[in-house]
Amino acid sequence: MLLYLHVPFCRAKCRYCAFYSRPLGRADEAAGDAEETASGVSRKDVGPAGDAAECGRGGPSGDAALDAWAAALEEDIRLWGKRLAEEGFGPASDTRPRAPRLSSIFFGGGTPSLVPPAVLGRILECADRSFGIESGAEISMEANPESMTPEKAKGFKAAGVNRVSLGVQALDDDLLRAVGRVHSRADALRAFDGLRRAGFDNVGLDFIWGLPGESLEAWCRQLEEAAALGPEHLSCYGLMLEEGTPLWNERESLALPDEATQAAMYAQCGDILEKHGYRQYEISNYARPGRECRHNLGYWMGRDYLGLGPSAVSAMRGQRWSQPADLAAWLAAPRGAMPEGELVETLGPREQAEEFIMLRLRTAAGLPLDEYRRLTGRDFIADNAPLIAALEAEGLARIIPAGEGSAIGAEVLAVGGTPDGAGRLVTEEASSAPCAHAAHADRITQTSGARFALTRAGMLLSNSVIAECFENLPDLPENE
Ligand code: SF4
Repeated sequence: MLLYLHVPFCRAKCRYCAFYSRPLGRADEAAGDAEETASGVSRKDVGPAGDAAECGRGGPSGDAALDAWAAALEEDIRLWGKRLAEEGFGPASDTRPRAPRLSSIFFGGGTPSLVPPAVLGRILECADRSFGIESGAEISMEANPESMTPEKAKGFKAAGVNRVSLGVQALDDDLLRAVGRVHSRADALRAFDGLRRAGFDNVGLDFIWGLPGESLEAWCRQLEEAAALGPEHLSCYGLMLEEGTPLWNERESLALPDEATQAAMYAQCGDILEKHGYRQYEISNYARPGRECRHNLGYWMGRDYLGLGPSAVSAMRGQRWSQPADLAAWLAAPRGAMPEGELVETLGPREQAEEFIMLRLRTAAGLPLDEYRRLTGRDFIADNAPLIAALEAEGLARIIPAGEGSAIGAEVLAVGGTPDGAGRLVTEEASSAPCAHAAHADRITQTSGARFALTRAGMLLSNSVIAECFENLPDLPENE
């Protein structure tokens, strides 16, 4: 199972950001470094493996809000481990109920690098006691350059983190200032160097393109520079103006790149990164083969995930729910419990099919036609024939035949299914699905094991393609 842990603290609010976070001062740095020196140990060495009751004891970090968050989070982890064991989510072969083991943990935010490494190590230890962390699990954290000091990089590595996603956003100080980032280009380069020196061999750099005042040339120059640093992964998102943010309020006067420039920024991003050996595996994500983010792939493949911390989202067995998006409200909520009311959503057949279409069409691997048939009882090609023909004619999409290699590396495939002999993604359900739509049996036979995928140019239109696929969905029952 995937575990997402939300860190609700940031040094300051970026001008484009609509995520939930609250300010945390600089005092945390000194406290974090001091604690780390005091512990300076690996996750496995944090203490003798006791039982899960050890979780939730918290400890001083120098910030009362952070301490309260960490203690409540540990308590949540412990109680959710117990609950999921009792509800039968664990391995079926075990004689006593056990929590599902964790194949991935992701600290997102907010700014997880504001958390002292010793505190983060304690949380991981709690997750190991409560669920069990698989050997070789991906343990990721997001980090911001200004709070990822060389000492902290060493501390996070010792605590058990093995993948870092560094929020660089731009390698240009004017652009960084324009969107209210509190770090500089030099901070980003120093943080990356510190991570490498600490021994991290799986580092991603996160960028935003289309910033106010950014030219196509400036974007390409930054990408070339980023690729030359040799990270394992790059995330490149187009700037979104979110309602209620300072940038949204100034939208009329912002010098944003026009639509054609934005399209060129997206296209050249793919070309430049491919030239440097990266493969696009999702609309906004590129990786060296085998270094795709397994946690995010798990989301896109529809795996169960538990999200804990303010505003975190969980999805399991056809239900999706969110934690309160406010630290005080989240702290006041009962621990280890499902939220109530509008924070919980039950996904009916239609919502599940829409979710599947939306997530899979974002990936380069595409939408497995067999799985669509299993979910809807229908044929994707027949349901979307005119749309597919138009997209194929323009080079915006294609049917990838069974047997043609996937864009996802073999070592990553184990997350969402099992690779067959030809390197295709085959989930257990899909491979055993009966054909329920006899009218198109010939075409289905030809496309069994095949996928429908947008090309890079087609991904630019993904929102409208997905909307049209929704419209073409048959009348599946919605959740009442
Ligand atoms: S650091 Fe990230 S989460 Fe925090 S305000 Fe900036 S964009 Fe938002």
